[in-house]
Amino acid sequence: MFTINDNYLKLQGSYLFSNIAKKVAAFQERNPGAEIIRLGIGDVTQPLAPAIIEALHKAVDEMGNAATFHGYAPDKGYEFLRHAIVENDYKARGCEVYEDEIFVSDGAKCDCGNIQEIFGLNNKVAVCDPVYPVYVDSNVMAGRTGLYNPTNENYDGVIYMPCLSQNNFVPELPKEEPDLIYLCFPNNPTGAGISKENLQRFVDYARKIGAVILYDAAYEAYISDPDMPHSIYECEGARECAIELRSFSKNAGFTGVRLGYTVVPKDLKSSEGVKLNDLWARRHGTKYNGAPYIVQRAGEAVYSPEGKAQLKTQIDYYMKNAKTILQGLKDAGYTVYGGENAPYIWLKTPDSMNSWEFFDHLLSTVNIVGTPGSGFGAHGEGYFRLTAFGTYENTLKAIERITKM
Ligand code: PLP
Repeated sequence: MFTINDNYLKLQGSYLFSNIAKKVAAFQERNPGAEIIRLGIGDVTQPLAPAIIEALHKAVDEMGNAATFHGYAPDKGYEFLRHAIVENDYKARGCEVYEDEIFVSDGAKCDCGNIQEIFGLNNKVAVCDPVYPVYVDSNVMAGRTGLYNPTNENYDGVIYMPCLSQNNFVPELPKEEPDLIYLCFPNNPTGAGISKENLQRFVDYARKIGAVILYDAAYEAYISDPDMPHSIYECEGARECAIELRSFSKNAGFTGVRLGYTVVPKDLKSSEGVKLNDLWARRHGTKYNGAPYIVQRAGEAVYSPEGKAQLKTQIDYYMKNAKTILQGLKDAGYTVYGGENAPYIWLKTPDSMNSWEFFDHLLSTVNIVGTPGSGFGAHGEGYFRLTAFGTYENTLKAIERITKM
């Protein structure tokens, strides 16, 4: 009789957003007339930019013609896309990254979840708390953690780095030495950015102790502070200690199109002297058959002059929402964070309510859905996340309702 990977049994309940969806569905059933505004899930609402639609149409037509048809894509992605990525995301920022260090994929979630496969099971993992749940859960599934401890709401064996208002939601270096350090800036869920100096501190630390940083820069397009790093490779020495994960979901609205990439520099070697670039190439080639040609052409259009201009307008649109939420909540007397270099607003729940109580309160009194901070980790308790990804009209309406509450 077969057995299962019993590490899966350590996982806690269902995924945060399924719980929210269930609660919202139950509320809607009880209150069919309620007009619910969803500022919970980090999904975008604006349509794809015209330059991207045009590239998609053109690529679809190519697929219908034997002379221009494309089958399986190259393992690492088409050269035209990897070239555009290197030129625009790295060279233009003075970062040293090469085309054969880019691995195109169908999004950052898979890469965030899969990247841990190339590391030994005895590696110690450090994560921010609160955290994007994929980093933790994928390591739980792999068996790199102990059991979940309901007392401190942590998995045994994981190093949690608290992100609090006291440290501007940028963690201190951990006291216990990790091997794998997950960082995400601009941050989901807190909306915090990281200064170059602080990121350099992590890079220096990782090099000193021989750790690797898994840097999730899915929200880099939302950075407005000109001094804030968009890539970890803006830091000296990062090529020797960091992998970077990127997504087209939030900068270009590809949540339903699916495209991302991971950078694994050739200078990055394990303690055994193995190049992580070779390992990830082997893993990628074995388990992944490439993002679709038409999607990679759409990704290329993100870097065209028209694409860049149109996407800037889109990001400005979402950041106008962020500003509206931030100001509206401040005016209503809330303590708020984030929203300046990220599309997330992290607010302190009123004193008498924990995160889920505030969720219920907001849903039942003003029919607004947000995300309870405690769903992202123990140090998210007492906080609540709102996203700027709604429409402007809904955002305004939501803020009006909260202000009147
Ligand atoms: N990384 C972070 C921090 C995210 O918040 C998300 C999505 O919300 C992702 C990765 C997933 O991105 P993708 O849509 O490319 O899978």
